[in-house]
Amino acid sequence: MSKAELNLVQSCFHTELSRRDFFDRVVRYGIAGAMATLVPSTVLSRALAPPPPKQDNWRRCNKCLTMFYNGFRTKGRCPKSGAHIRGDESNFKLTYNSAGPGQREWRYCSKCQALFYNGYSSKGVCPAGGGHFAQGFNFTLPHDTNVPGQRDWRFCDKCEVMFYNGWNEKGVCAARGIHNAQGYNFVLDNTVRID
Ligand SMILES: [Zn+2]
Ligand SMILES: [Zn+2]
Ligand SMILES: [Zn+2]
Repeated sequence: MSKAELNLVQSCFHTELSRRDFFDRVVRYGIAGAMATLVPSTVLSRALAPPPPKQDNWRRCNKCLTMFYNGFRTKGRCPKSGAHIRGDESNFKLTYNSAGPGQREWRYCSKCQALFYNGYSSKGVCPAGGGHFAQGFNFTLPHDTNVPGQRDWRFCDKCEVMFYNGWNEKGVCAARGIHNAQGYNFVLDNTVRID
């Protein structure tokens, strides 16, 4: 039984009798069955639900400081020149199909392979021409929080990608010049081991 499940179970005991009754049911019906007799099913399904899935192989481009997907043979289109080139320091994994907490509508652009915000009717400026084009997973990204990861990932209000704002240098923006940070301060999970 996980710690969360144990806490949940303990919160349901009001008397020593109910505690003994519960463990009696564990023996007879197994842990899930015993919990189902005590805990409302909505609470139970939340407590036992697996964590939302994550996709890794998201990397920072050394040249434009944009977050891009490095899992394909091709590396998209970089606003500085040619294709993106990954930095060696961090491999990021991003949560998708999640109700939160965090901001939804962060998507992969199938034209430039950057991570961009798809929540506005404008689709930013894509280095491959026109606006970005969303494909695949819908990512939910934590911001302004203490979860493990790297902070200072920001939305660029000119080209609408996610870029790293933690250095003096602000990369290269497809909408000319350098990226410009706006809105939330995202904390992205870089706890993936790099071999
Ligand atoms: Zn790039
Ligand atoms: Zn794009
Ligand atoms: Zn930009």
